[in-house]
Amino acid sequence: MKSFGIEDTITKLNQISTKRAEVLLDHQVKSIKDLLYYFPRKHLDRTNITKIKNIAPAHKYNIVGTVETLGEKRTRFKKIYQVLISDGTGVLTLTWFNSSKYIKNLVKKGDLIAVHGKVDWYNGFSISHPEFDILDQKTDPASTGSIIPIYPLTNEFKRVGIEQRLIRKLILQSLDKISSFNEMYNDKILKFHKLVKIEEALSQLHFPDDINQLKSAIYRLKFDEHFILQVFLALVKENIKRTEARPFKDIGPYFQIIRDGLKFELTRSQKKVIAEIHGDLKKENPMNRLLQGDVGSGKTIVAILSSSLAVGNNAQVAIMAPTEILATQHYKSFQEELSEARITCCLLVGKMKKKDRNKIITNIENGKISVVVGTHAIIQDDVIFKDLGLVVIDEQHRFGVEQRNKLTNKGLNPHLLSMTATPIPRTLSITYMGDMDLSIIDELPKNRIPITTKIIEPTRLPKVYAFAKDQIDSGQQCMIVYPLVEESEKSDLAAAVEMFEKLQKSTFSNYKVGLIHGKMNGEEKKEVMRRFKGNKINIIIATTVIEVGIDVPNATLMLIEHAERFGLTQLHQLRGRVGRGIKKSYCILVNRGTNELSAKRLEIMESTNDGFEIADEDLILRGPGDYVGFKQSGFIKYKIADMVTDGPIIRTARILAKSIIESDPTLENHENVKTQVIKDYKNNLHLVKLN
Ligand code: ADP
Ligand code: MG
Repeated sequence: MKSFGIEDTITKLNQISTKRAEVLLDHQVKSIKDLLYYFPRKHLDRTNITKIKNIAPAHKYNIVGTVETLGEKRTRFKKIYQVLISDGTGVLTLTWFNSSKYIKNLVKKGDLIAVHGKVDWYNGFSISHPEFDILDQKTDPASTGSIIPIYPLTNEFKRVGIEQRLIRKLILQSLDKISSFNEMYNDKILKFHKLVKIEEALSQLHFPDDINQLKSAIYRLKFDEHFILQVFLALVKENIKRTEARPFKDIGPYFQIIRDGLKFELTRSQKKVIAEIHGDLKKENPMNRLLQGDVGSGKTIVAILSSSLAVGNNAQVAIMAPTEILATQHYKSFQEELSEARITCCLLVGKMKKKDRNKIITNIENGKISVVVGTHAIIQDDVIFKDLGLVVIDEQHRFGVEQRNKLTNKGLNPHLLSMTATPIPRTLSITYMGDMDLSIIDELPKNRIPITTKIIEPTRLPKVYAFAKDQIDSGQQCMIVYPLVEESEKSDLAAAVEMFEKLQKSTFSNYKVGLIHGKMNGEEKKEVMRRFKGNKINIIIATTVIEVGIDVPNATLMLIEHAERFGLTQLHQLRGRVGRGIKKSYCILVNRGTNELSAKRLEIMESTNDGFEIADEDLILRGPGDYVGFKQSGFIKYKIADMVTDGPIIRTARILAKSIIESDPTLENHENVKTQVIKDYKNNLHLVKLN
């Protein structure tokens, strides 16, 4: 008898006590649907199990056996914990070093256990630190299949008697009694994308008949997760498309003047990107474009030329950068080019004299100033624009959604150009960036000489210092960077200061050594930077404050201490501070780590200068958590989908989402999709207006 609705609470199921319901609720399992979406951590393929009599040393196996004896043992050197299992054809010893407490609590005599690992011969067959799962002892209809799901179980689960077997029984009961599954897709879509029906996917995921049906089930469930996100992003984008903005139809008088006055030829990429931006600015809905370009690829001039188009159509422009150093530097670049065309430009930062600030904000309000470059100071309430038509945000991931909105709200749906030098891994850019148009500068200006990168051990530092002196003696400058990890901020700062004092007194006593760190105030930092830029400082010691945006083409050596503590993308950003001039540059990474993985990571830096390649590697090694906007967006919670490896699925899901939204922007004919999107992304629905 089919009798449950999928949204009914799990208390309708047999064997759910109040206590169990409470524990399940703590794990976000409230409805029968939640239970069906409580996915296995992995599956054990019983068809792939080897009998102990057939195993041989040095090979990996899956073995299932019963625990016969277990206990701690002292060898001459250390304590070990051993579990002896048997499968009727032989015995196998499982050995753990130093983790006896943990194992003691997990494994009991008589348990049926599935283990995976490499077999050794050591007075008998043994596996050290195997992967293992405790299986159900008794067979029951729900656990006789050849591929068994293994669910994540916490201690709270076990406390109230929720074991693997019970979960399977509950899920079996649910699958059996649900009246309807709310299929999201119609038959045409299912067929076209070769998706199995949702009830089949769920039932095969929990009780697979064979490996191929399990694969189809996983594909379908991954597809759903990506699809919902893509629909959400397509809705955001659609919403922008239906917002009206002022089109900048003319090129205006300034663009040509500035472009013709440049001391260099724009790269092919820069030209392409400017054309894309110009195409957007002509439209009657606001541009929402992300300009991605490696450090030193020349994004600033693209922003300047875009600004000249806006001003040429009588609109104002705001450029926001995350630090004062960067804003000041931008201001100089803008000022230099814009003055050619007699466009008025000003700098607005936090610490300014009240009188100066008042004058500036008055002139912004009455429209005498066309272009404002600044920090967060721009988004203060009393900064009012006469007619803000274009907003440029540099290093956009450094700002929250709210700060960005605050700036765009100072105009009437202004066009938005976001810029970033953090290369977004390709798989992520098609998901997260789904609501933005993407422009990429994928080449450096031709005059650049590639930077040479070397990993060294600390013992080789004297050699590097000698090399630094050579560089300085021939007129160049050097930077030494210390990491600043939040929890040990103080000691890292101390390390930088200490190093500064030491190097100044000894190795570099004949040179001008400077120090810059985050605890200095804005004025002090500016002063140090000014002196470094003017080559009054030969060698600068810095914490990571210099990461963003400083442009000193005369610097040719970058030495990064404790390189193992940095993420690869961050190292890449730091490295981009050199190699900006006409002289060959070097980046030395001091590896003080002991771990093999960190050495491997650093090798990637030696092997490539391509930010995208580095980002892809970093993604694989560290996962997507660190990337642009992910922390802020917070709504990407996948259960089964994998951002790193699901590229092809994401692309297909995206195409489907786009085509649905294009033909049915309010999802009237796709009620089930709509419900799903609203449920999954309800916290972000303010971004989308469904009619
Ligand atoms: P980023 O993309 O990192 O912001 P910038 O815009 O600061 O890079 O440009 C880095 C340097 O390259 C600047 O000194 C800039 O003047 C110079 N530059 C930009 N475009 C070109 C080009 N096409 N040819 C030569 N130099 C260029
Ligand atoms: Mg820049």
